[in-house]
Amino acid sequence: MTLKHKTALITGSTSGIGLGIARVLAQAGANVLLNGFGDASAALAELQQYATQVRHHGADVSDPAQIEAMFAYAEAEFGAVDILVNNAGIQHVAALEDFPVQRWDAIIAINLSSVFHGTRLALPGMRARNWGRIVNIASVHGLVGSTGKAAYVAAKHGVIGLTKVVGLETATTQVTCNAICPGWVLTPLVQQQIDQRIAAGAEADQARDDLLAEKQPSRQFVTPEQLGELVLFLCSEAASQVRGAAWNMDGGWLAQ
Ligand code: NAD
Repeated sequence: MTLKHKTALITGSTSGIGLGIARVLAQAGANVLLNGFGDASAALAELQQYATQVRHHGADVSDPAQIEAMFAYAEAEFGAVDILVNNAGIQHVAALEDFPVQRWDAIIAINLSSVFHGTRLALPGMRARNWGRIVNIASVHGLVGSTGKAAYVAAKHGVIGLTKVVGLETATTQVTCNAICPGWVLTPLVQQQIDQRIAAGAEADQARDDLLAEKQPSRQFVTPEQLGELVLFLCSEAASQVRGAAWNMDGGWLAQ
């Protein structure tokens, strides 16, 4: 399948899952606009190998004005955003009574409100061209809860609700909107949680195995590239009737 002449904007794609998705879409021929913090030069150099047009925009997606600036940049550089992957996300783990108010606000802004802003900015062009794919990287935590993750679980449940509404509002068009719900993926976001266990006295291997064993029956991490392949499928014509779905890839987490 080729995504030649399509442009994909992937938020939070300077590391982890977003970078894995960007890699798969670039290999399928898409132009890619990377977004996220940190030095993007290695990611840019790698993706340029696949002979696509690749750029980076450093918008902080907690700020709607910066998201608008990123879409204006995408229009100027590529002429369109055909595929939007709302992926940027952060985590904070604390019991609800101790949850820092600023962390709550940041998680809702980055993990949930940015999905609304990106979608409202992408949809007019997608409708005008009558083709588009919006893929929201939610989480198993969009479908079930876990202790210590009040803001994250609330935001991800919100993303799945938003996905359903956009799936319905675009149902008679060639624009689709779906969510993917990963289980554990070994990225910096999850490494932080493993590090907390190590700080509490666990050995590194044990900390990783325990984290998996508690939730993920396969006891193996999902990889960013596997998630990228699912995004690629959702971009295909074969997936044109997958609408408003929340599709888990979680090593069996939600089967329990
Ligand atoms: P990560 O920390 O490796 O990457 C997060 C990316 O988002 C980075 O590129 C970072 O620069 C960017 N980012 C963070 N705040 C930003 C902001 N304000 N503006 C713009 N970019 C910002 O995390 P990850 O594990 O790859 O997570 C990616 C997505 O996948 C998140 O939405 C996360 O909730 C979701 N997810 C992750 C897992 C997992 O196990 N890692 C599981 C389920 C869902």
